[in-house]
Amino acid sequence: MRKDDLIVVAGAGGFIGGALVRHFHDKGAARIRAIDKKPLPLWYQRTPGVESLCMDLSDESACARAVAGAAEVYNLAADMGGMGFIERFRVECLRSILINTHLLEAAYRAGVERYFFASSACVYNARLQEDPNCRALKESDAYPALPERGYGWEKLISEMFCQEYWAERGMKTAIARFHNVYGPWGTWDGGREKAPAAICRKVIQAKDAGEHEIEIWGDGRQTRSFTYIDDCVHGIDLITHSEELIATPINLGSSELIAIDDLVSLAEGIGGVRLKRRYDLDAPRGVAGRNSDNTFIKEVLGWEPTVPLRSGMKATYDWIELQYRERKTRAQSRPDPGRGQ
Ligand code: NAD
Repeated sequence: MRKDDLIVVAGAGGFIGGALVRHFHDKGAARIRAIDKKPLPLWYQRTPGVESLCMDLSDESACARAVAGAAEVYNLAADMGGMGFIERFRVECLRSILINTHLLEAAYRAGVERYFFASSACVYNARLQEDPNCRALKESDAYPALPERGYGWEKLISEMFCQEYWAERGMKTAIARFHNVYGPWGTWDGGREKAPAAICRKVIQAKDAGEHEIEIWGDGRQTRSFTYIDDCVHGIDLITHSEELIATPINLGSSELIAIDDLVSLAEGIGGVRLKRRYDLDAPRGVAGRNSDNTFIKEVLGWEPTVPLRSGMKATYDWIELQYRERKTRAQSRPDPGRGQ
């Protein structure tokens, strides 16, 4: 990467895109264009000195404008959320295909050197994830294909687009399959949040309200691995600039497996409380077990995500607690409309 190359980050108003912009900025990249369809005041992070634009990248002509002059394009834009969102809004998830399809073609036409696509562990065959004591998933486990309905299919076909743009047209593409990314500056409320943020918020709320109960989606025995945001952005950078990984999907995830019940215990430990657990067996819960097999990434990059879940969760909990308190203070300082001046 040359210092003056223009880097375009799509989905920069979101969690991972926002962190990636900051990563490149801190590394010394002089020209970054950050794009999201959310209005600028709603972006999770804005990095000073970065060109930040509000554009809808499901539109073909917007994509052409977005990538003009770019050397590298990173596609982190998608309509997505945790299990509660992707099980309910499959159409929205599928429609993200428009973003990658138009952005990839626009990047090709603009002569972009490298194109990154954010895929997901949701592409893996569901049959391999029916047991909480699961075998970790390796890259070849995506086929024969039986991914998550909606969201997972969109990711799998977009991966294929990226592979064919290299095979047929010679544009260098990179594809990482993220495994549950979490950390500060992410969604923590409102329905799109994922398990680590949701659990931290529930513990904070219960403590604040003096309630001693927490609701858990599923039976608590589902297992997952969770990847801290700093590892994720570092991994994106390494993967995109590896000649060995062109058009080759690769896991980008922690291999530290944990049951949801134990994740709750971890958050309780950080908050210094013990809560009574209520299990909602009708709530969306996703697959029974999923972990990342990191054999391939260690072999190619000599690296894998390293941040321990305990320290990542502490940083996440502290950040969410701060957001929670600030929001409460704002609500309390708003004038009561029922009271005259
Ligand atoms: P996010 O929801 O925080 O960010 C996505 C951003 O894309 C949002 O700010 C949204 O406004 C923007 N966007 C949506 N449609 C757009 C459009 N038409 N034009 C422009 N911008 C648009 O999500 P995230 O967690 O930062 O995820 C980033 C990428 O990583 C997504 O592709 C997601 O599917 C993938 N991913 C994330 C995780 C995870 O655990 N967070 C796991 C696997 C894959």
